[in-house]
Amino acid sequence: MPDKPFTYDYIIAGAGAAGLSLMCYLLSHENLQTKRILLLDRDLKQTNDRTWCFWETSESPFESCLKSKWAKLHFHSQEFSALLDISPYRYKMLDSLSFYQHCFNLMARFPNVEFRQDEMVALEPNGIIRGKKAVYQAEYVFNSVLFQIPKLPQKHYLVQHFKGIFIRTPSPVFKPEEPTLMDFRVAQHGDCRFMYVLPVNAHEALVEYTGFSEAVLPQEEYDSEIQAYLRDFLHITDYDITHEEFGIIPMTDAPFSKQMSEQVINIGTAGGATKASTGYTFSFIQRQCAAIAQNLARGEKPLTGSEKTINKFAFYDSVFLRVLQEKKQEPWRVFHDMFSKLPASLILKFLNEETSLLEDLRIMNAVDRTIFLSAVIKQGLGSSTAS
Ligand SMILES: Cc1cc2nc3c(=O)[nH]c(=O)nc-3n(C[C@H](O)[C@H](O)[C@H](O)COP(=O)(O)OP(=O)(O)OC[C@H]3O[C@@H](n4cnc5c(N)ncnc54)[C@H](O)[C@@H]3O)c2cc1C
Repeated sequence: MPDKPFTYDYIIAGAGAAGLSLMCYLLSHENLQTKRILLLDRDLKQTNDRTWCFWETSESPFESCLKSKWAKLHFHSQEFSALLDISPYRYKMLDSLSFYQHCFNLMARFPNVEFRQDEMVALEPNGIIRGKKAVYQAEYVFNSVLFQIPKLPQKHYLVQHFKGIFIRTPSPVFKPEEPTLMDFRVAQHGDCRFMYVLPVNAHEALVEYTGFSEAVLPQEEYDSEIQAYLRDFLHITDYDITHEEFGIIPMTDAPFSKQMSEQVINIGTAGGATKASTGYTFSFIQRQCAAIAQNLARGEKPLTGSEKTINKFAFYDSVFLRVLQEKKQEPWRVFHDMFSKLPASLILKFLNEETSLLEDLRIMNAVDRTIFLSAVIKQGLGSSTAS
């Protein structure tokens, strides 16, 4: 292995959602377009390894890669079912391969941006990366490789785990305008479990079984739950599976370090972009990466310090995780209370961390106040109360 490091202005370690998003935002600023940038990943990113969904009111920079978008969402519980208007939001679906290809096509237009396939074995605070094939160094390293999640006392550690299948049916069984965000009519098994159905046309849909809990399930359980849902709720028995995906997303309020040093900035899930209470990450990655690129374009440091201010949403997430983990209330009821009493757009705004304090109070008013207040008090006591 050569001793002398390959040097760059910026290294983007990990060419996934965050790394490639950051590259796009950097290259959208004229004064950063000549920077020498290395994208480093152990994988070539040539497979469709995940589907990202998110919601927003405006156009996404990745609008051309969208597979579908919707203005309405179904919500179902045992006691309430509705097709909810989410205007001004649109719920959007992006397949990762289209996103990777879009980003690599952009990269090809900039000879100063390079991709190397290598496995990182060490990342040092001085901006040095030791890979299996070579050593790399930059003025700034933007790292999305998640080495480990800190295990701390009094923090909540749940996971969102899911298996999704893309199916194609011979007859037109889906209403393409009517996706299902959450269907809690499935057996809860003392946990929080729901189905998610995203039809892309009358014959094709993603059907996904999701759980929020401490551990993942045996693979056969996801399969049998999906089969039962297709049969019993959607009345579909004749279908082909065209693609499958399985995922585990951390749902934890353990703090992720936003930077290892002045030179090494963490991004994506590794930089705390995953929302602890929902697992949604893609929108938060966009905000995080757009802000970093803008700061650099202004000649400032990548992180301005505003991220050190107390985040009320992080507190709400901890409270929700506590309610979920302590099982003082059946988790489906929390979502039922919100979706049956409030406009869906307000709930999406809250989950996107865009609400005012007044709007937060409307959300709090919809859920069981005794249970949540008790969790707020325990969470507020924080350090002295074990979870
Ligand atoms: C199946 C799945 C579906 C998801 N769906 C959604 C969704 O619908 N909406 C949403 O908001 N969030 C979703 N998420 C959560 C989140 O958006 C994704 O995990 C997202 O990919 C996180 O982006 P990231 O850049 O932090 O990590 P990644 O996209 O995982 O990128 C990290 C990169 O680092 C590379 N890497 C790892 N280790 C090394 C190493 N040692 N050396 C070199 N390279 C390395 C990997 O190959 C990868 O390319 C989903 C997650 C999964 C797993």
